[in-house]
Amino acid sequence: SNMIEFRDVEKRYPDGTVAVRSLSLDVAEGQTTVFVGPSGCGKTTSLRMINRMIEPTAGRISIDGIDAATLAKAELRRGIGYVIQNAGLFPHRTVAQNIATVPRLNGVPAAKARDRAMQLLELVGLPAEFAGRYPSQLSGGQQQRVGVARALAAEPRVILMDEPFSALDPVVRAELQEEFSRLGPELGTTIVFVTHDIDEAIRLGDRIAVFEPGGVLAQYAAPEELLEA
Ligand code: ADP
Ligand code: ADP
Repeated sequence: SNMIEFRDVEKRYPDGTVAVRSLSLDVAEGQTTVFVGPSGCGKTTSLRMINRMIEPTAGRISIDGIDAATLAKAELRRGIGYVIQNAGLFPHRTVAQNIATVPRLNGVPAAKARDRAMQLLELVGLPAEFAGRYPSQLSGGQQQRVGVARALAAEPRVILMDEPFSALDPVVRAELQEEFSRLGPELGTTIVFVTHDIDEAIRLGDRIAVFEPGGVLAQYAAPEELLEA
């Protein structure tokens, strides 16, 4: 079933730039949907409209059939995780503290949040001894793993990922792609993933939205269909 629906969504920035034009697509629950296309064609803008970091100027985005514009932002974002290119970890907090941040804010007791952080560390493929390290002591790939663990800690139904692996060297990148292609299905989490790399899109996506310059959706297809084209 569809969790997120875009219907004729447009984003026109105040300077007149139309970043997204008449976008209609459905994001299926439990699947990975990838927004792919060259730089500047509206992928990030589309992603950020899902959690209302950016507001559409026309059309409608609904989540579980409810118009996102009618939901309180705090409520909307509670169920939506967000992972960006350079992880955005808190530099003065350890790995475990980073992962436990949202659960602690939500009132989960420290010991329980810590146990959960340790489980998540294992899930994203990091050894337990990383728990006490600081982000600056981790490689880029390790930081991205922590970023994903932190997003998962809030137990979101949806995770938005904006070029999470793009800054990594090709070997580490391939490794993370391989591992994270299994994670979404394993957890049943719905993922919306932005990349400019078509190979990455095909590797990770159940459905792929191909954007073109001008913020136009050119194609919305399964990876097999794109490979045939
Ligand atoms: P990223 O490329 O890392 O996602 P941003 O989302 O901040 O970075 O910006 C995406 C694109 O939008 C970039 O091409 C940037 O130059 C452009 N951009 C961001 N903010 C503005 C702005 N206020 N005016 C014009 N262009 C902008
Ligand atoms: P992508 O993620 O595909 O690189 P973006 O969604 O970041 O594309 O940007 C789409 C278009 O909107 C680009 O032309 C970009 O420069 C423009 N843009 C992004 N943010 C702003 C902004 N705040 N003000 C004006 N233009 C922007």
